[in-house]
Amino acid sequence: MTDLHRLSIREMTEGLKSAQFSSRELTQHYLNRIAHIDTQVHSYITVTAEQALAQADAADVVLKAGNAPVLTGVPIAHKDIFCTQGIKTTAGSKILDNFISPYDATVVAKGKVAGLVTLGKVNMDEFAMGSTSENSFYGATANPWNLSHVPGGSSGGSAAAVAADLAPFATGTDTGGSIRQPASFCGLTGLKPTYGRVSRFGMIAYASSLDQGGPMARSAEDCAYLMNVMAGHDAKDSTSVEKDVDNYVTNLNATSVKGLRIGIPKQYFNVAGLDADVKARVEESLKKLEEMGATLVEIDLNMTESYVPTYYLIAPAEASSNLQRYDGVRYGYRCENPVDLTDLYKRSRSEGFGKEVQQRILIGTYALSAGYYDAYYVKAQKVRRLIQQDFLKAFESVDVIAAPSAPTTAYKIGANLSPTEMYLGDIYTLAVNLAGLPAINAPVGFDQNNLPVGLQLIGNYWSESQLLSVVHQYQQATDWHTKRAAIAEENA
Ligand code: GLN
Repeated sequence: MTDLHRLSIREMTEGLKSAQFSSRELTQHYLNRIAHIDTQVHSYITVTAEQALAQADAADVVLKAGNAPVLTGVPIAHKDIFCTQGIKTTAGSKILDNFISPYDATVVAKGKVAGLVTLGKVNMDEFAMGSTSENSFYGATANPWNLSHVPGGSSGGSAAAVAADLAPFATGTDTGGSIRQPASFCGLTGLKPTYGRVSRFGMIAYASSLDQGGPMARSAEDCAYLMNVMAGHDAKDSTSVEKDVDNYVTNLNATSVKGLRIGIPKQYFNVAGLDADVKARVEESLKKLEEMGATLVEIDLNMTESYVPTYYLIAPAEASSNLQRYDGVRYGYRCENPVDLTDLYKRSRSEGFGKEVQQRILIGTYALSAGYYDAYYVKAQKVRRLIQQDFLKAFESVDVIAAPSAPTTAYKIGANLSPTEMYLGDIYTLAVNLAGLPAINAPVGFDQNNLPVGLQLIGNYWSESQLLSVVHQYQQATDWHTKRAAIAEENA
């Protein structure tokens, strides 16, 4: 079969179970596509072909025996921020270019138990800092919709791999938008879960109070399958929450769009820099939801202007602390011929980290330093609480909140925006992480250059099922999520 990559995850599980094709055939099919098409997209840092085929063969044995877990034999790509035992894990950085993890991240381990086959590790901005995936030591990834544009970031490799059909779904992480924005730029569905829903154990830390892993796929249904694997309490992550996990797949029709109250924040649709096509597509999608029975309610989110400054203090502060461990002593890159310990630290870190990461370490260290701690870090924490309260107040009168995922469609590769311009592009995603809320991106059409536009729906705590369900119903009534980039139509 030449079109296995066109199947949904559910169709794949059915085909595997009824032996229409084997996991080896399916896996080989994706490996062929990666070999032929990823030379143009550059979504993978590491392809683990041999291991993938071995896992596929093992999956085929389990499938034959019957009673296999539902996803047995389905391939996946992992963002290179998740530790994989015996396989290089770089976080997009030179400083981890030689790092082979001695253990699996919980998300990866759960994937193995579920029978998933790992195709490889996909590209990302260094330590997840960025919005284009250009901050990777391993080079830029191309957007499958237009190869001269970025796929977004930081989970740009995950998004590009799925959008080019080089993986049926992928893991991503979201600290300030890194699942939702690349999903938006590549025409995919991506879910950022409530903080604490998915284990962070073995997920290389950027900003620990904001980081959260989640699924990226073509549809809400495909995301639901992966969420069933990823979600759940983990004793190895003290911030993971002990709370029952929904069955996200069987819940796909649990929430009705009929009667759903969708909050439209006044402040969000007047943001300078909101592209006219993006605004139009998002408004059309809201109109569609209204036709399906939802009520649109205008709401206030008064703290909108504080999102960018607050996040860009807190995230670098946590990063400066988290990244202290890369010192050239224990693991990772070490400079040549250090003259003494200080020289070893200094040169290993200045040679091993890229420019954006160094910039954030400097800003974060400054914000945490004795004389400035109260003025910057403590103040930012107070504003963070106000942002959260703003959302809690809004959820008293609405069920979900709608927004664009990003003010624009995908930038051109090499556009070289200033940090301020780049950071302003995160305006719609950052607050969700600061408040710890769940949010989802769904594709809702294209701009005049045929680049995808995304709608973001933000839910109250633990409302992942509801978000997936609403998007699933929207996707039953529309076909934006079925559109494929020309490169995905190519056969390997
Ligand atoms: N673009 C944001 C940043 O650069 C968010 C990244 C993320 O979510 N990892 O920090």
